[in-house]
Amino acid sequence: MRKWDENGFDDEGDDSVLDYSAAAADGDSDAPYEAQTPGIEQDSWSRRTAGGEIVLKDLDDEMNSILSAAAEKNAALAENTKALSGGIVSSGFGAVSGLFRNLVGGKQLSAEDLVKPLKDMQDHLIKRNVAREAAERLCESVKRDLLGSKTASFQSIDSVIRVSLEKALTLMLTPTSSLDLLRSIAATTARNRAAATSGAGQRRPYVISIVGVNGVGKSTTLAKLAFLLLENNYRVLVVGGDTFRSGAVEQLRVHVKNLQSLIASRQTTGKIDLYERGYGKDPAHIARDAITLASQADPSTDSATSFDVVLIDTAGRRHNDARLMSSLEGFARLANPDKIFMVGEALVGSDSVAQARDFYNAFGFNTDGTKRGLDGYIVSKCDTVGEMVGTIVSMVHATGVPVVAVGVGQHYPDLRTLSVAWCTRLLMQ
Ligand code: GDP
Repeated sequence: MRKWDENGFDDEGDDSVLDYSAAAADGDSDAPYEAQTPGIEQDSWSRRTAGGEIVLKDLDDEMNSILSAAAEKNAALAENTKALSGGIVSSGFGAVSGLFRNLVGGKQLSAEDLVKPLKDMQDHLIKRNVAREAAERLCESVKRDLLGSKTASFQSIDSVIRVSLEKALTLMLTPTSSLDLLRSIAATTARNRAAATSGAGQRRPYVISIVGVNGVGKSTTLAKLAFLLLENNYRVLVVGGDTFRSGAVEQLRVHVKNLQSLIASRQTTGKIDLYERGYGKDPAHIARDAITLASQADPSTDSATSFDVVLIDTAGRRHNDARLMSSLEGFARLANPDKIFMVGEALVGSDSVAQARDFYNAFGFNTDGTKRGLDGYIVSKCDTVGEMVGTIVSMVHATGVPVVAVGVGQHYPDLRTLSVAWCTRLLMQ
């Protein structure tokens, strides 16, 4: 019989009993990844900055074709896409602008004129899965910008609303780019190098951990992040921190092997390895040991640390499972990640907002007493649902945590940055 301790882990030392993996994955894990990835040209998913970093492209109109292609295969999505119709595919004025159509006429707009269209706009946003409070905030912004303005033509009212909504969404979504993350990693790498040269100061790789409920796409997203880092010549140590679900470590091993064979044919000095200790052990200790290992100098390459980035997978957990959620606090303290990203699904009807709030509150406090929240969301499966923008807006509004990237497919390059202009366009349809 398996015995779990109060944190939901098996007793230390009993891992042999729990390790069902045996040789399971090794046999079938060697499928060449290229076979699964049709086009992986760099400019299909990324662009190179003037500084030489390879950053993710914005999620944009490309999404229309991704959704249309998926819709062809999936009747439910086809309905969904049709509902957004004019929407996703056409570029005409959207539903929101239409609500203000009767206001055109060259007169100054009063608060009274705006009551009905703003109420209708709020209902429209709520139907698009935007939480009521967030919808109210967006409508307030549009109201402020329209009040007292003269609307000579429909075109002008459309653009005032678009600009106003975009401004409000930019404030609300505070989107961050993959460049911010890459620069932050570069700063840590430079600090380690300086510490090695001067012989003073601690060396520590950049640590990222990925959390989320089961099945949302944590390990796939971790692999996509690893791919981006490898393309930027970083050396990545992936840590099997899901010591709970049988098969989780093997799944990571498959990703690591795939990525190793993928980069062999690419121009990168990056490398990737897996650190794992099987099942049943406390992931916080495994993470700490992996970080210690990655912090050691690498004499063979003359590097300050043997890995630049440590990417830690964690066990999926129900966000309302108090017992498992509480172990995240100890994890954050011991592994002390530079970034904690939550992977959440874009699926309509999923409880992403409650997930976001519960994960945001799970990590306790930093040593200086400030709150240790989440550092970003990565919203997965955006390619499978047309109406995810409202869910994204609601998640960010509930916590103030930005969206770092969005997942748009099952392949390693299928990661993009969220574009506010694109969100605005979709919400106005
Ligand atoms: P985990 O249990 O959270 O680690 O989830 P996995 O990484 O195993 O992913 C669960 C499933 O979701 C897998 O079949 C993935 O291929 C799929 N998945 C992950 N991200 C995306 C995405 O952005 N788009 C699509 N279409 N599928 C995804």
